[in-house]
Amino acid sequence: MPGMAFPLGLATWRDNWPMTFKNVFIFALFFRLTVAIAAPPLIAVDVGHGGLDGGATSARGRPEFAFNQEFAGILAGVLRERGQAVREINFAGDIGSLIARPVQAAGSDFFISIHHDSIGESWLKPWIWEGAEQTYTEVKRGYGIFVSAQNPDPETSLRCASSIGAMMRRAGFAPSTWHGRKHLAADAENGVWYYDNLVVLYRTTLPAVLFEAGVIKHRDEELELADPERQARMADALATGIAACLFVRPKVASAE
Ligand SMILES: [Zn+2]
Repeated sequence: MPGMAFPLGLATWRDNWPMTFKNVFIFALFFRLTVAIAAPPLIAVDVGHGGLDGGATSARGRPEFAFNQEFAGILAGVLRERGQAVREINFAGDIGSLIARPVQAAGSDFFISIHHDSIGESWLKPWIWEGAEQTYTEVKRGYGIFVSAQNPDPETSLRCASSIGAMMRRAGFAPSTWHGRKHLAADAENGVWYYDNLVVLYRTTLPAVLFEAGVIKHRDEELELADPERQARMADALATGIAACLFVRPKVASAE
C-alpha cells in the first residue's frame, strides 16, 4: 500500500498539491526509516522478578516470573526479527537487585521491564484449582504502562509509553482503568500512568517504561495471557510502538 502512494503522487503532481506533499512526507519517512535501520536502536528488555521473588501468583497458582520470562522471550524475538538489537536483562531470573537492572541496561537506547499484574488482597476471592486453594479476581483486567516523572528523559519515556499503548489498543487490547485509583494519569486513554518511585524507572540514565501485560489474577485473562497467538500479537504491538517512538528521537535524527 505505501509503495503505491509515491507514483500516484507523481501522476497528480500539478493538480493535487496536498497529495504530493503527503507523498513527499511518506518518502521522507521511508528515508529516515532506512537511516534508523542502518543503526538500530538497542532495546533493553527486563524480565520482572526472578527465581527467589516470583512476583504475583496467578489465579491458577503460576508465578508471575514465569509469565514475564515467557513473554519477554517472545518480545525479544520479535524485536530482533525487525532488525532491532536487544539486550536481555534477567532472562535467567538470577539478577542480584533492582538497581542491577538499569545498571546492566546502561548504554542501551530504551529500557522496558516486563510484568504481569495482580490486585490488592481485599479484592481476592478463594477458589479451588486442581485440588489446591487459590485466589482470583473478577474486577480488574487489562494492560497498564508506567512511567516515572523522575526519569532523566521523561519526555521519551512518555512518548514511548503512549506509542506502545496506542499500538496495543489498535491490536485489540484494552487498558485497565483500575490504575486510576492509585496513579496519576499520564495518558489514560492509552493506559499510561505515573509511578514515580519505581527504582527501575528513575535510577537509570535511559528512557524507561514498565509494562504490565495483564492481570493474571483474572481467570479468563490468565488463560489469554498464556495463549501463544495472543502473545505474538501483543509482542508485535509493543515492537511497533517502541520502533515508532525511538524513530522520532532527536538522537536518531542527528545521525542523518
Ligand atoms: Zn511484577
